[in-house]
Amino acid sequence: MPEFARVLLDQSAGKPLDYRIPEPLRDRVFVGSRVRVPLRTRVVLATVVETLATSDTPGVRDLAELVNDDALVRPTLLRLARWMADYYCCPEETALRAVLPVVIRKAEVTHKERLFVSLERPPTADERAEIARRAPRQIETLDRLLAAGVPVELAEFPGGRAALRGLEKRGLVSVGLQRVARDPEGQYLPSQDLTLNAEQAAALQVVCDAIDDPSAAKPILLHGVTGSGKTEVYLQGLRHALAAGKSAIVLVPEISLTPQTVERFKSRFADIQGQVAVLHSHLSEGERHDEWHKIHSGGARIVIGARSAIFAPLENLGLIVVDEEHENSYKQDEAPRYHARDVAVYRGALEGCAVVLGSATPALESFHNARTGKYRLVDLPARIDDRDMPLIRVVDLRLQNRQKGQPQVLSAMLCAAIERRLAAGQQTILFLNRRGYSSALMCQACGHVAQCPNCSVALTYHRDDERIRCHLCGHAERAPHKCPSCRDPGIRHAGFGTQKVEESVRRVFPAARVTRMDADTMARKGSYRDTLDQFQARKIDILVGTQMIAKGLHFPNVTLVGIVNADIGLHMADFRAGERTFQLLTQVAGRAGRGDAAGEVLVQTFTPAHPAIQHARHHDFLGFWEQESEFRRAFGHPPFARFVLVTVRGENLERTEFTAQTLARRLREALPAEVTVGDPAPAPLARVKSEHRFHLGLRGPSAPRMSRALRSVLAALTLPREIRVAVDVDALHLL
Ligand code: ADP
Ligand code: ZN
Repeated sequence: MPEFARVLLDQSAGKPLDYRIPEPLRDRVFVGSRVRVPLRTRVVLATVVETLATSDTPGVRDLAELVNDDALVRPTLLRLARWMADYYCCPEETALRAVLPVVIRKAEVTHKERLFVSLERPPTADERAEIARRAPRQIETLDRLLAAGVPVELAEFPGGRAALRGLEKRGLVSVGLQRVARDPEGQYLPSQDLTLNAEQAAALQVVCDAIDDPSAAKPILLHGVTGSGKTEVYLQGLRHALAAGKSAIVLVPEISLTPQTVERFKSRFADIQGQVAVLHSHLSEGERHDEWHKIHSGGARIVIGARSAIFAPLENLGLIVVDEEHENSYKQDEAPRYHARDVAVYRGALEGCAVVLGSATPALESFHNARTGKYRLVDLPARIDDRDMPLIRVVDLRLQNRQKGQPQVLSAMLCAAIERRLAAGQQTILFLNRRGYSSALMCQACGHVAQCPNCSVALTYHRDDERIRCHLCGHAERAPHKCPSCRDPGIRHAGFGTQKVEESVRRVFPAARVTRMDADTMARKGSYRDTLDQFQARKIDILVGTQMIAKGLHFPNVTLVGIVNADIGLHMADFRAGERTFQLLTQVAGRAGRGDAAGEVLVQTFTPAHPAIQHARHHDFLGFWEQESEFRRAFGHPPFARFVLVTVRGENLERTEFTAQTLARRLREALPAEVTVGDPAPAPLARVKSEHRFHLGLRGPSAPRMSRALRSVLAALTLPREIRVAVDVDALHLL
C-alpha cells in the first residue's frame, strides 16, 4: 500500500509536492483523487498525480482530507495532461485544468443545491391583464415559464428571486429545490441509417476497421466536399463503436453546435437518448457539473461538444470524430493553448481508439500529414446524388465603383440575383465577416483612422448611438463629425458592417423580409435559435450575418449566398490569411443549393485574381493546396516547419522590449542552429488594455524541442515583476 501521495496544488503553477497518506486513508487515495492538504497555515485543494512507497521530502506532512471517494481523473487523462504540459510548454497544473474543469473541482458544487422556478398555475385572463398593466417584467417571466413547460433554474432570471416575489405572492409561481431530470433539447423522433453510396461505404469500412483494430490504424482524414455525406459516415461509425460496447466523442466547432446539429445526432440515437450528452458552452455551472458526473459515472456513451469535450471522462473509447477539423476555434487562446484536433489524435493513441478528422477544406497541416503518411486519407469527392456544386461567380468591385463613382454595398449583379430569388420564393444569405455598422472611421482627406487609445486597433462605428467602440477593451466615445487630425469634415466609415448591409438590402428590397444575425443582434439568449427557426420556416427572405451563419447550417431553400466583401481578412499580417479566406468561401458556398434547386454564390471583391478566391471559385482544394504549399515551403512556414509564438507583454515599453530581446538572445544560445529565433517585434495589436505586446517567433523542425528549450530558458530568467510571457506552440492566432 503506497504511503505517500504526490499532489498538484490547484492554486499553484509550481512543482508537485509530497504528503503522507494517513493510515485510515491508505486504501482510498489513488492517482486522480482529490484531496485537501496543509500548506503553511492553510489547507488547500489538490489532485493526486502519483502514489509512492517512499518520499525524500524532509518533514513531509500528512494529507488533511480526501474530498471525493472516487478518483476524479483517470490515469489516461492524467497522462494526456502531462503530454499537454510538455508539448504546449505550460505548468502541469494548467494542463490539468483542461482535464478537470474548475466547476468539478469546487468541492462545494457537489453539495450546493440549485433552485428552480416552477409555474403553479397559469394566470386567468383578468390576472394577466392586470399584471401586464402593473408589472410588465412579470409577464415576461410568466411567458418564459409557459414556453419552457418545465421548471427553470432561478439563476436564469435576471434580478433573481426579488424579481419573482410578486408572482410568488399571487401563487402563480413557486421557487424551490426541485431537481428535474429534463432534457433541455426535448424529445427526438428516431431517424434511420441511410443507405450509403459506394464512397461512403468505403469510408465507413475504413472507420469500422480502425474501431475494431485501432493498433493497426492511423488517424483518418476524411476529406469530403460539403454535402458529400461525411456526417452520415460519422453516425454509422458511432453506431459501430456502440455495438462493440465502446463509447465515443464527437467534436464540432462551437459555432456549429446548433440545435440542428444536436438533433441530427440525438434523433439517430433516439433509442439511447439519455446516453447522449451534449456539452454546450452555455450550460449553467450546475448543468455542466451534472453532465460531467453523468459522463464520469458511465451514464453517457456518446459525448457531443466543442473544443473542451475532447477531455470528456469517458471510458473505453472506441471513436473520436473531429468535424471541421480545420476550424481555428479548436485552438484554445489561453493556457493551456492546446489544439483539440491534435489532442484528439494523441488521446486516440493513448486510449487505443479510432480517430476521424473530417473537413471539406482540411488544414494544410492535416493534409500534409495525410500526404506524408502520418494520417490515412479517405476521399468523398462528390456531393450526395451528384448534386452540382454551387456556381461561384466573382464580382469585381473595382469596376462597379468606377461605374457608380462610390462604393456600393450591393453590386448590380448581386441585386439582380436577389431579385430572382425573391420572385421565385427562395431564400438568400448575405455574408459579411465583420460586426458593427462599419469597420473604421477614416478621414477621406488625410487618411486618419479613429483608433482605440488603449489597444491601437481601429474603433468600430455604431450608428445606433453614434458612438465608436473598441472590440477588445470596450472603450467607447462619441463619433467625431470632423477629422480630429486635420479638421476635414470628410471623415466617414471606411468599410461597412452587417448593419449597413441590412440597411442597403432594406432600401433596395423594401418588401423583402430581412433579418440580421450577428453578435450584436443575437446577444439575447434564445434569439439565435428563434431566428434560425424562422428562417427554416421561410418567414425570412434574406438573412444577413457574420460567420455565425457560415457553418453547419442546412437550409434546402437557400439558393443564393452573397459574400459582400471577400477582401476582409485577406490582407492581414498572418501567413494563414489566404488559407482562411479559401476555407471561408468554400464553407459559405456550401450553404447554397443544399436542396433540390441549384445554388449560386456571388463573391464581391476588390482582388478578384487572388488565388484563394480563384481556387475557391473552382472548388479546387488540391489546386489551392499545391499553390499554397509552395508558398509555405518557400518561406519556411507550417506545415513545413513548426511555429511557436512567444508574446511578451507589460505596461512599460522599454522593459517589455528589453525582456523580449533578452529572451531571444537566451533562446538562440539554447537552441540548435536549425531553429530560427526571430527578432522581437511589436505585435500587430501592439497595445491591448494599456499593455505593450512584443512577438517573438520560433521556427524549427520539432515543436517539443522548442517547447523544452523555452521552458528551461524561462525558468532561468528572472522576469521583471509586471512582465508576462505567453508561449503558443503551433500558434494560429497571430494578432
Ligand atoms: P457533409 O457532412 O459532408 O456536409 P451530410 O452528411 O450533411 O454531408 O450530407 C448532406 C445531405 O445528404 C444530408 O441531407 C444527408 O441527410 C444526405 N445524405 C447523406 N448521405 C446520404 C445517403 N447515403 N443517401 C441519401 N442522402 C444522404
Ligand atoms: Zn481598446
